Amino acid sequence: MKITTADLAFSWCVRERSNWTCERCGTQYMPPTKALQCSHYFSRDNKSVRVYPDNAFANCNGCHSHLGSNPHYFKEFVLGILGEERYDRLVTVSNQSATYGKLWKHEQKEIARHYRAEYERMKIAREGGFIGRLEFTAYKAECIAKGNILSNVQKNTEKKWKTGL
Ligand SMILES: [Zn+2]
Repeated sequence: MKITTADLAFSWCVRERSNWTCERCGTQYMPPTKALQCSHYFSRDNKSVRVYPDNAFANCNGCHSHLGSNPHYFKEFVLGILGEERYDRLVTVSNQSATYGKLWKHEQKEIARHYRAEYERMKIAREGGFIGRLEFTAYKAECIAKGNILSNVQKNTEKKWKTGL
């Protein structure tokens, strides 16, 4: 699977969120490093949650493999971090893949830009001395909340196809 600039910007956010600490074993790493990875609960194949903050966690290689090969344990781990309400929300969003696939395809640059900006915002909080878990916002969070993730650009393009203009 091709890792895009949007994936990379998102991965930096996920790892910064935990202050470069594995969310399972608690080992802290010094950025930049590939020793701490961005692990996805629902795999990257699922476009709807590929860059959705609640679907990803910072894990060292060993914990990443352990979670990946034990789905039941992974679910407990995710529930422990998110709580039931956010977990249920994640499952709902994960089922919007048909529509979100289009957004993923057409809005790579905007997605990358959003997560780079979020990363910079988190860095400022770190520089201010905050060491706990930071949260960051999903790309088009307000649209996801309404279950309507198509952008206006996308809608206009679809209209064009329909009218033949
Ligand atoms: Zn670990």
